[in-house]
Amino acid sequence: MRVMAQIAMVMNLDKCIGCHTCSVTCKQAWTNRQGTEYVWFNNVETLPGQGYPRRWEDQEKWKGGWERTRSGKLRLRAGGRLKNLGNLFANPHLPQLDDYYQPWTYEYKNLTEAPAGDDMPTARPVSQVTGEPIDKIEWGPNWDDNLGGAPAHAPKDPIVEKIRDEVGEKIRFEFEQSFMFYLPRICEHCLNPACVSSCPSGAMYKREEDGIVLVDQDRCRGWRMCVTGCPYKKVYFNHRTGKAEKCTFCFPRIEVGMPTVCSETCVGRMRYLGVMLYDADRVAEAAAVEDEHDLYPSQVECFLDPHDPAVIEAARRSGITDEWLRAARDSPVHDLIATYQVALPLHPEYRTMPMVWYVPPLSPVVEAVAATGSDGEDAGNLFGAIDALRIPVEYLAAILTAGDTYPVEAVLRRMAAMRAYMRKINLGEERDESIARAVGLTGAEMEDMFRLLAIAKAEDRFVVPTAARPEAEALADTHPLDAAACPVDAVGEPPVLLNISPTRRRS
Ligand code: SF4
Ligand code: SF4
Repeated sequence: MRVMAQIAMVMNLDKCIGCHTCSVTCKQAWTNRQGTEYVWFNNVETLPGQGYPRRWEDQEKWKGGWERTRSGKLRLRAGGRLKNLGNLFANPHLPQLDDYYQPWTYEYKNLTEAPAGDDMPTARPVSQVTGEPIDKIEWGPNWDDNLGGAPAHAPKDPIVEKIRDEVGEKIRFEFEQSFMFYLPRICEHCLNPACVSSCPSGAMYKREEDGIVLVDQDRCRGWRMCVTGCPYKKVYFNHRTGKAEKCTFCFPRIEVGMPTVCSETCVGRMRYLGVMLYDADRVAEAAAVEDEHDLYPSQVECFLDPHDPAVIEAARRSGITDEWLRAARDSPVHDLIATYQVALPLHPEYRTMPMVWYVPPLSPVVEAVAATGSDGEDAGNLFGAIDALRIPVEYLAAILTAGDTYPVEAVLRRMAAMRAYMRKINLGEERDESIARAVGLTGAEMEDMFRLLAIAKAEDRFVVPTAARPEAEALADTHPLDAAACPVDAVGEPPVLLNISPTRRRS
């Protein structure tokens, strides 16, 4: 057993209100400068929809992530480093700017400086990249937000296409009217990152101390193999510097025990941050299991119980400090993934072993029940509806469990039970233990889960240990943390922090 510690995130999709605050604050902190105009380290997609970049989940086209060979080994879908060097000047699997969008601004000066005259001045859109006028804006990072234009766009969602093949007639009706939800996305800081293995110059790496995946700006040659290799399309090319950039998990904040900017500013309070302990010796095998449906359970099996004395002992031998071990025991992320088993990984079939997990939304089911005039909070109604409403469950399974509906149903039933159990308490009725028992939990566990999912305070949602104490104090002195916390003053300048090359590399 080789114990390693990773900072991980869980997002509760039932609580995302699609306000995009996380995207805006992240952009202000990290990509509010030339060369990254089109870049959103954090973005929020409406599903069903095409996402950003368009149809990023279509791995037939983009060749991101890993595939399993007949002999049971993993290989990059896009091919190894050597093959990719041959594609250096014509990589067919690289998204173009139009696949993201042409970032634009408006000629505001025309409005404020136009001389008095008979004609109303206008502010034409102009490209932020070329400075040229844009005749017609036809796509943006949130073009299909809130199902806008869904009749035209939602059927092009690669997941809709995939499950339409599987469920046939059932999905031929007005699909976009049956449900919608938001999916906020950042880099997954994967345990088996395809971006790192794709990089021929060794610039991409996963930090040994906390698992954060970063780009060493000094070593990056701008070959963009990482952009192709990442199946989540969460590495971006800075066209000014000619280097790759990506979500840094706000490491300067994490190192001093602060939550990421997207987590701290989340209006829905739907993000959780905490430590996960895992057995690094099991990662390669777990990522290569034959049946895609086994990928979710095999990743869970890599995670270690932070309360187990043998794990604590082995972790100490690996150099994990007591502060980190305490944080692992208090980790809300561990509770949601392993204790209550209500969080699931995003596209485990890409075999990168992602570390940003999601609590699937129950609200499409609740709304569908309420729309029939029935009580949408009643446990019996909800359990029945989860079984009956195949389309949302199959869609969620295609996103979160490589198409296996059983774990998604199990999570939704647990969430439905929690709602019904807590409603009785809030209405002053008797506690109904049978509701908790129906999903394999006790009433006390239901109440704990409710506290964490519904009303947790910041200190319960973010349990972030600092770097080793002396290192943390040195970091607080040397990192311009104020600039990271309030980056507006630094507009136009690349953040200094991106160029730091922290020391310990795992890969
Ligand atoms: S999600 Fe992040 S860590 Fe995973 S492959 Fe993509 S860039 Fe790498
Ligand atoms: S800030 Fe929170 S609630 Fe708003 S879109 Fe982002 S994740 Fe959702």
